[in-house]
Amino acid sequence: MDDATSVLFDLPGFVVIECVELDDDARRVVIMQAAAEHGCPRCGVVVGGRPYDVRESRVTDLPFGERALVVVWRKRRYRCQVSSCRQKLFVERSDQIRPRRRSSERLRRKLAEADGEARACSRVAAEYRVSWWLGIDETRTRRPRWYQDPDTGRWVRQEPWMTSLTDLDLASARVILGLTPGRSSAAVSTWMGARDQAWRDGVEVVAIDPCAAYARAVRRACPRPRSSSTTSTSTGSATRC
Ligand SMILES: [Zn+2]
Repeated sequence: MDDATSVLFDLPGFVVIECVELDDDARRVVIMQAAAEHGCPRCGVVVGGRPYDVRESRVTDLPFGERALVVVWRKRRYRCQVSSCRQKLFVERSDQIRPRRRSSERLRRKLAEADGEARACSRVAAEYRVSWWLGIDETRTRRPRWYQDPDTGRWVRQEPWMTSLTDLDLASARVILGLTPGRSSAAVSTWMGARDQAWRDGVEVVAIDPCAAYARAVRRACPRPRSSSTTSTSTGSATRC
């Protein structure tokens, strides 16, 4: 790939090795790190030459042009050369796209700046073509109370639960997006129903307790394809809408 393309893409430490048309609406660019040697994260010994294998991972990056740009990082995996090292294989790392993150640091900086401008989250998400990771959880606010309905005379148990909705992106300073009384499907549906369509369109992954009521509300509110499953985690589950 012409080096001018790498200069134009302008991600420090990376070179563009392929850039193709996908369709009328999108292009695809494949990048690799310019450095051909990388240190083992456990012992620090530098390894270069032929990698063990190469894997591709999709990265969300700054918008570039009017059409969508799909960025793919062709990532080398190496075998540590130190026989006593417990890190048998390792993947090359970069400060520009940190381990286990799906977005570039330059994009995360822009999102953090936009968050500080008090703009609508949905507008920022649409501008940078990013999606939401939403967390839904219940919190017991106090002990249950009973009160007597003055009209019917019946005793009613007062719900001591609140549902919190949080932005799971740790780069965002605005972590708690909202609180709603109760812990039912209706509580979440009502809260999400008050958000605009663009906001709901951006929700890609929702992390919840293994709670059928929450899952029902999320599936109703999220317009994205519903085919993906709910995956259990140590703290709950993640539903990809
Ligand atoms: Zn090592």
